Amino acid sequence: NYAIGIDIGGTKTAIGLVDSEGNVKDKLSLPTDQSVSPSEMVDRMAAAVRQLADQAGLPIESLTGIGIGAPGPLNTKLGQISEPPNLRGWWGFPVVEAVKRHFDLPVFFENDATAAALAEKWIGAARDSQHFIYITISTGIGAGIYSHGRLITGASGNAGDVGHFVVAPEAGQCVCGQEGCWEFVASGTAIARQASELLERPVSTKEAIDLAVSGDHPKMTALIERIFKYIGVGCVTLINTQDPEMLVLGGGVSQAGEPLFNAVKDYVSRYALNPTGRETRIVPAALSQDAGLIGAAALVHVSY
Ligand code: ADP
Ligand code: ZN
Repeated sequence: NYAIGIDIGGTKTAIGLVDSEGNVKDKLSLPTDQSVSPSEMVDRMAAAVRQLADQAGLPIESLTGIGIGAPGPLNTKLGQISEPPNLRGWWGFPVVEAVKRHFDLPVFFENDATAAALAEKWIGAARDSQHFIYITISTGIGAGIYSHGRLITGASGNAGDVGHFVVAPEAGQCVCGQEGCWEFVASGTAIARQASELLERPVSTKEAIDLAVSGDHPKMTALIERIFKYIGVGCVTLINTQDPEMLVLGGGVSQAGEPLFNAVKDYVSRYALNPTGRETRIVPAALSQDAGLIGAAALVHVSY
């Protein structure tokens, strides 16, 4: 049986037809056009869903449901996008109701990082774990918490919005108004910003990390070491609060691989509280391509 996964992002919306083993049978990508109303965007999404079903020869009624992942803050009780900074035109938009107007199918709706955590549990790096945290280090930083064998969503679907942990109060003001949030100092956006300030020219996140690792630029090495330490700081806080068996790191910045993982493991081994017998594994996410839409489809296929 098949579900539709819809991953709404600030620049594009990925829509896929996903089977009950997590295979993406077919998918489409639409630009998230913020110059049109969200309800117009939902009309386009609905047309894409019909197209995918048609191409697969599946009647809409045969689909198990539609899962939607979206950036937070949102309100899953109300089925609304709340006020994500990268989706300004969607603030307060009742997305679940809008999708239900098109289809007589069950609709599931969660924060994108929460949905990605469920996908890692379903077919990814955390299949064998009952207690883990998925952390995405991407444009921002977010997390999905899986504890005691279930997804922790919170009262309104915003549990795991860890990007606004304060880790460096001197660092400057985040979009949320606080000083020194985790994502303000350690997201992909934050790495590029600080590296560009250092070199006084535009520098991408990947270039900054490559330069740091090459050892040719000691100031960049020091900057990236400090940023990776901050990534470790947030991880320690999560380990100390949730006692997970593992952390699963995903998102674009996790593509940096070993230098990042080694730095985080080193920091965690030094500073996470260390009860007897506890060893928190830190592993890369298994799903990178299509993680968002597989996560959205997981909301339909997997009970949480
Ligand atoms: P989104 O936030 O839209 O979900 P991604 O998870 O792809 O997107 O994260 C985008 C961030 O990851 C950007 O800041 C980008 O510069 C960074 N990034 C992408 N690839 C790499 C890489 N190989 N190494 C380090 N950073 C990367
Ligand atoms: Zn913040």
